[in-house]
Amino acid sequence: MELYSIKQERQIKPSLVKIDRESNIPLIGCIAFGIIDRGTNLLQVRCTSVCNMKCEFCSTAANDFNMHPTNYIVDADYLLDWVKEIVEFKGDNTHIFLDSVGDPLTHPDFVELVTGLRNIKQVKDIIVITNGTLLNRKKVDELEEAGLTRINISLHSLDELKSRKLFGSDSYSLKNVLDVIDYIAKSKIKLMLTPVLFTNVNDEEIENIIKFSKEIGCSIGIQNYEIYKYSRKMKGAKKINYWKFYRKINELEKRYDIKLRFNDKDFNIERRERLPLAFGINEKAYAEIKCNGWIRGQMIGVAKNRCISINNCKNVINDKVRVKIVENKSNIYIGELYCVIITKIYILQSVG
Ligand code: SF4
Repeated sequence: MELYSIKQERQIKPSLVKIDRESNIPLIGCIAFGIIDRGTNLLQVRCTSVCNMKCEFCSTAANDFNMHPTNYIVDADYLLDWVKEIVEFKGDNTHIFLDSVGDPLTHPDFVELVTGLRNIKQVKDIIVITNGTLLNRKKVDELEEAGLTRINISLHSLDELKSRKLFGSDSYSLKNVLDVIDYIAKSKIKLMLTPVLFTNVNDEEIENIIKFSKEIGCSIGIQNYEIYKYSRKMKGAKKINYWKFYRKINELEKRYDIKLRFNDKDFNIERRERLPLAFGINEKAYAEIKCNGWIRGQMIGVAKNRCISINNCKNVINDKVRVKIVENKSNIYIGELYCVIITKIYILQSVG
């Protein structure tokens, strides 16, 4: 797999944690891998945190190894074990959204994962979001055969050089991405282009992408540029509020006679019971340290079959720690050390 080619000699290389059945690392609790349930019939399923690009605006700061010294790759069979269990709880017509803090297509067994998901009787739509660079005609054929429902492609410009700059990579090939887009549009897989509007940067490009989507007959869902806690911030892009954003979208809808606004109903998404929380805020738990966390300084501890990302944790794997839960939204747990329990027994041997 080709990683981005921006020079990075001075950067720290990330470690890669492989998560499989033997690892005993649960697939709920960490934002960087596993399954996220936000109380609907759609589950976010994250098979890896790896990405092959380094976008100027990336909301997760993928490939910033100073911020994220660790990446994760989840064994496809192990991920399927967990999905099967959770869709039993969620019920029929559960949609699977293969998203990531990186790009899901970097997973080496991505096609097998889709095949396995398709064989789960409660699973309805299977959707992936990708930058499109790791797709080719053969891969699209395989994904069609595997039963993928829709591909969302992040396309932000129809200009080769601008695209390379936005994706932060000399290896980004707009020509290849457009070829594969055209191929998907003719396949059984639904296609949606998902450009981000960077006001003052790609306004004109967005209109070109709308025209292009009409030409090839696919849908397009424009997103507003957001800046999150860990986002890379793009120079020159103006952040606009949602009132201004939707006013612009409405204008574009009228000008191009195209649907640009989508809601949950359009994708048959409905409210469903959430998986119960394992921990309340301020609750304390004993956790066993399993691996490095996604954010520098974090370690991942496990308790009650959930991952907890523990801030400012210098403990090592197999240590047992007392943790206080400080965040628990959507079963994603952040904790702080409460007090450390020494589990290692040092036997001092006298010599002589
Ligand atoms: S925005 Fe997506 S494609 Fe770009 S670096 Fe981030 S995760 Fe990768």
